Amino acid sequence: MGVLDGKTSLVTGASRGIGRAIAMALAEAGSDVALNYFTSREPAEAAADKIRAMGRRAEIYKANVSNPDENDEMVAKLLDDFGPVQVVVNNAGITRDKSFVKMDRSMWQEVLDVNLTGPAMIIHRLIKPMIETGGGRIVNITSIVGQMGNFGQANYAAAKGGLISLTKTLAREFARKNVTVNAVAPGFIETDMMADVPESVLDQVRNVTPIGRLGKPEEVAAAVVFLASPAASFITGEVLGVNGGMYM
Ligand code: NAP
Repeated sequence: MGVLDGKTSLVTGASRGIGRAIAMALAEAGSDVALNYFTSREPAEAAADKIRAMGRRAEIYKANVSNPDENDEMVAKLLDDFGPVQVVVNNAGITRDKSFVKMDRSMWQEVLDVNLTGPAMIIHRLIKPMIETGGGRIVNITSIVGQMGNFGQANYAAAKGGLISLTKTLAREFARKNVTVNAVAPGFIETDMMADVPESVLDQVRNVTPIGRLGKPEEVAAAVVFLASPAASFITGEVLGVNGGMYM
């Protein structure tokens, strides 16, 4: 028996990295999983196959989460396939780093669109059927950068900080509808997103992280499963840091 038996979860950006680990962990906890991807079709298929091998249902959905039409199409298909979802994990995210004076408008807009407007649109489309069928859990993947700020990431910090504020507001709006809304704020986690970060910077990160290392996607996924589980029923509007103590 898993804590999420009988539930259906949507995970955006589930083809790689943290999102893939979240999809696996939700399935291990008993949930069927709808996996959103944007460009990495084969990895998304492979993740879905792995979930099916666990005996859960899994389907993949291509959509750029910042595109309203693609979101509409994805949500229509997934409601058709699974019915209402009980767990929504807004994980898809991008960075486009530059010091603020060199950051152009398109870098700003793209990061805000994917990391903040995308999650808002997806919640907007899924919340009604979720409420009408008894409620559910929303978990937004923000970042330590949304809590602390970071040099060269004004766009990303603004988007992730905005996602924290969105989380708290929706937690208030949906609290009496049996929907909790929480955020998980990873520190520096070993994924492709870290691939362009120079080793010297990662060394500095290790130095200022009390636990002394980067995190693993599975460590973020465990926090998401907790927030989606019955054990977290009285937690809403919370930002759960998974950062090795880098921000406390
Ligand atoms: P990653 O390895 O770069 O993977 C990003 C995922 O997001 C991929 O599955 C990608 O899908 C998807 N994605 C990107 N743009 C998309 C779009 N427009 N529409 C739909 N999907 C899109 O990133 P990660 O490190 O796992 O990060 C996952 C989340 O954690 C992000 O929100 C990130 O900001 C946050 N985070 C990461 C860290 C870290 O240290 N890694 C720290 C704090 C927060 P495709 O490959 O299919 O295009």
